[in-house]
Amino acid sequence: MPQRRTTALAAPQRRVTALAAPQRRVTALAAPQRRVTALAALCAALLVAAAWGFHVGNTPTPAVPVAHRVATTTRAQATTKQPTTRIKAVPPTTTPPPTTAAAAGDAPQAGAHALPGPGSRKTGPLSTQILTGSSSVALTFDDGPDPTYTPQILDLLKDHGVKATFCVIGSRARDYPDLIRRIVAEGHTLCNHSWQHLLNLGKRPLSYQTWDLEQTNNAIHAAVPDVPIRYFRAPGGNFTRGLIDLAGRLGMSPLSWDVDPRDWDTAGYGRGTPMVNHITSVVEHTVRPGSIILSHDRAHPDTVVAYRSLLSWLQARYTLTQL
Ligand SMILES: [Zn+2]
Repeated sequence: MPQRRTTALAAPQRRVTALAAPQRRVTALAAPQRRVTALAALCAALLVAAAWGFHVGNTPTPAVPVAHRVATTTRAQATTKQPTTRIKAVPPTTTPPPTTAAAAGDAPQAGAHALPGPGSRKTGPLSTQILTGSSSVALTFDDGPDPTYTPQILDLLKDHGVKATFCVIGSRARDYPDLIRRIVAEGHTLCNHSWQHLLNLGKRPLSYQTWDLEQTNNAIHAAVPDVPIRYFRAPGGNFTRGLIDLAGRLGMSPLSWDVDPRDWDTAGYGRGTPMVNHITSVVEHTVRPGSIILSHDRAHPDTVVAYRSLLSWLQARYTLTQL
C-alpha cells in the first residue's frame, strides 16, 4: 500500500514535467516571458495535479467505496420511500381526503346497478340495503356536512320538493351543528357515516368502533336532541358483520346503494364539465326503479352542478322517495 500511494502521488508530477518541458525550451529567450511562462507552467501543473487528485479521490479503494455506495443507496432509498409511506398512512384526521376514499373505492357493493324486477332483493351482501324496496328512487349524500356545498344541495332539494338522506361524518356534525339543524328542519333523513371516515373501521377493535359510532350519534344529538338516526353507512361501503351488528344495537340499519357515479374520482373523470357530464350520464344510464343513488355533498362542486339538471330529469321519470 505505501508503495502504491507513492506511485500515485508521483504520477501527476511526471505528467506536469512532460507538459512543461517544451514550454521551457521555447521560453529561454526573455526574462519577462520566462516569468509568464513559469506562471503558466505552475497553473498547468496545479490543474493537472487537481485533475489527478480528483481522479484518485474518486477511484474506489477496495474497502471504503463499497461501503460508501451501500450507505448512499440506503439513504437514497430511504429518502425515496419516505413520502410513499406518508401517503399510504391513514391519518386519524377528521377530514379524510377524497383521494383516500377513492383508494378504498367507495366502490359499489355486489349487486350494484342491479336491475330490480319481480323478486329483486332489497338487501345485498351482509344484509345491507341497496334498494328502496319500492319503485321509488332515493338520493343519499355522504361525507358532509360541508359549509359550502351542503347548503347548495339543500337549496336544490328544497326547490324541487325532494327529501334525501345525509350520511354525515361525526366530527363534521360537531363542527357544523347549524347544518345538522337545517338538514333536520327541512325534513331530510340522517345517517351515521362514522366519526372520521376511517376506511378500515371494521377492522378496528370493537371498543373503538363503539366509541366511533356513539360519538357520531352524540354529535348529531348535540345539534338536534333525540333526532332519529335510522341508518349507518360504513366509510367506503366497507361493511363488516361486526359493524352491522354494532349499528343494529345502536338502532341503525346498514345502508348501501346501487348507483354510484363516483363523483369523488376526479383522477378518473376530471373536474368541471367532464365530471358533471360523467355524473349525469352514469345516473341517467344506471338508475332503475328502486335505486338508491350515492353522491357526496362535501368538496365536490361538480356534484351540485350535475344535480341542477339531474333532479328535474329524475323527477320526470321516478318518484323520489325518502328513506
Ligand atoms: Zn364516505
